[in-house]
Amino acid sequence: MRNSGVARAGGPVVEVIDVTKAYPGAGGVRALDGVSAAFAGGTFCAVMGPSGSGKSTLLHCAAGLDRPDGGRVLLAGQQIGGLREPRLTEARRRRVGFVFQSYNLMDSLSVWHNVLLPQKLAGVRPDRTWAREVVRRVGLAGRENDRPGQLSGGQRQRVALARALASRPEVIFADEPTGALDLSTGREVLGLLREAVDDVGTAVIMVTHDPAAAAWADRVVFLADGRIVAELADPTADKVAAQMMAVSVR
Ligand code: ADP
Ligand code: MG
Repeated sequence: MRNSGVARAGGPVVEVIDVTKAYPGAGGVRALDGVSAAFAGGTFCAVMGPSGSGKSTLLHCAAGLDRPDGGRVLLAGQQIGGLREPRLTEARRRRVGFVFQSYNLMDSLSVWHNVLLPQKLAGVRPDRTWAREVVRRVGLAGRENDRPGQLSGGQRQRVALARALASRPEVIFADEPTGALDLSTGREVLGLLREAVDDVGTAVIMVTHDPAAAAWADRVVFLADGRIVAELADPTADKVAAQMMAVSVR
């Protein structure tokens, strides 16, 4: 069952055009200094770069969680810069899923209610059949009534992934989703992100600093000092590591 939203004839699902962003008090240093990139629907892109290079800021601006100072962000062709609340939140909830390093689950809610929460907050009737399917896909069938506190880190990240998939977003943004996981658990989560792309047709844009994680993607973009400085198609861990080395000695 592929995501119908991705059928949009090959146009980028996310496009950032000359995006700039500075934080007050950072000495005028730009976290993003004119970043342009397009992310195709149904593809997996990794974003890499040294700590402080602007990866999280780029993700937040691209997802409409944060407003750039300049430039434009298009989500499924819609410019979100001009949207005011609550329409921005609505666009985000309809089109975007999130996975964070720290899971960001509600500890007081069961797995099942965590998965359904974004749709309930959006005021849409949850698609329970699909939610059951995504819970099964991430390997948590039978754990629906557990609380996050009863789960391992890897299982919690699976819940976060099921929650992201439940609203059939066109794109999932993931900020270091394996950062808190051990190697083999991290690999399982990366495999599930890959499946979301290949089987469901969701686009994934994932920040990571691990070359082996980036190798699961179709493309890698490299940031340094708030700019895109390199790009790699069909990455392998070795090619990514070599490019990271080149980026960090610039
Ligand atoms: P990365 O995710 O690549 O580590 P970030 O996007 O978090 O980088 O940060 C980019 C730059 O912006 C860094 O110099 C960081 O210190 C600064 N920065 C990020 N968030 C804030 C904030 N909320 N307030 C001030 N400066 C920030
Ligand atoms: Mg970051």
